[in-house]
Amino acid sequence: MSLPQTTLVDGHGRSVTYLRLSITDRCDFRCVYCMSEDMTFLPRSQVMDADELVAIATAFVRQGVTRIRLTGGEPLIHPDLLTLVSRIKALPSLRELTLTTNGARLDTLAEPLKQAGLDRLNISLDSLKPDRFRRLTRTGRLDKVLAGIDAAQAAGFARIKLNTVMLRGRNDDEILDLVRFARHRELDLAFIEEMPLGDIVEHDRALSFMPSDAVLSRIEEHFPLRRSAEETGGPARYYRMDDSPIRVGVISPHSNNFCGSCNRVRVTASGRLLLCLGNDNAVELRPLAGQPERLEQAIDDAMIHKPERHHFSLNEPTNIVRFMNLTGG
Ligand code: SAM
Ligand code: SF4
Repeated sequence: MSLPQTTLVDGHGRSVTYLRLSITDRCDFRCVYCMSEDMTFLPRSQVMDADELVAIATAFVRQGVTRIRLTGGEPLIHPDLLTLVSRIKALPSLRELTLTTNGARLDTLAEPLKQAGLDRLNISLDSLKPDRFRRLTRTGRLDKVLAGIDAAQAAGFARIKLNTVMLRGRNDDEILDLVRFARHRELDLAFIEEMPLGDIVEHDRALSFMPSDAVLSRIEEHFPLRRSAEETGGPARYYRMDDSPIRVGVISPHSNNFCGSCNRVRVTASGRLLLCLGNDNAVELRPLAGQPERLEQAIDDAMIHKPERHHFSLNEPTNIVRFMNLTGG
């Protein structure tokens, strides 16, 4: 098959060049903002296999997507992860293959992932206190994640980024410690506003909401920041410090409207193409995974449904029933 490579453009004139591909809905953590404690996962038959995942990735790259991020659930628990990485990395004209992980299995997987061709890693880290880390992730161990960060740096991964979901009253007293840790280890760091994805009962999202500007003010008290001109085409705003090479970012789905420059779409582990994280517009791609031309056409046709922007509300019940592990955060 040799269709010419095209560029995906949505109905608002935005080029879509970035795919976040969820390779599993399963996870070894149960983070309080992401999942319920007794989470029910999809039946295995509803989760795409490695060939289907590669077919989807191939179709997007052939249509001009240049960056793919593998996510989940927890991508490191996928049994075929290393072959998936090397197969997707081999796609002609893919510029960058990255992965977002909770880091718990990086101690053994960082080196093989580097060998398989993975370009970059984001690692989630919500606390540097072992007990609190356990409470926020329900099952996670901080020492394992710190060992994972060590292993990732030892394997030669550069520009590793830490992601911290901010919860007022739960981990906002660690903002400066996390910045100091990131500076010391020379890691980028992004603070994320919690999003109302999936109904959880563990806490009231309206009460735990911590706006990015409040995070930035706390950092500024100790570390003067200057806005970086770097644009990611994504939701993060980045800042630099004069005495450190790292970038500190904030991801503000509530308090900052980044939709105008949105260049991304998501595919869930079951093969649903989601045009916007904050919206349920979706197209089922899995049935077309064995038919490359129809798959590419379906992706192209879907672009018109990418909404202009999302509307999140903390005070109304969420109308988005999917959880973040399904979506591929
Ligand atoms: N398991 C991997 C991890 O935790 O990095 C990858 C998947 S996880 C869904 C991707 C990112 O989404 C993580 O950084 C996580 O903290 C974030 N996340 C999950 N639920 C969220 C929510 N409700 N609001 C904001 N961020 C969330
Ligand atoms: Fe798992 Fe990541 Fe969700 Fe935490 S945020 S429960 S690590 S998928």
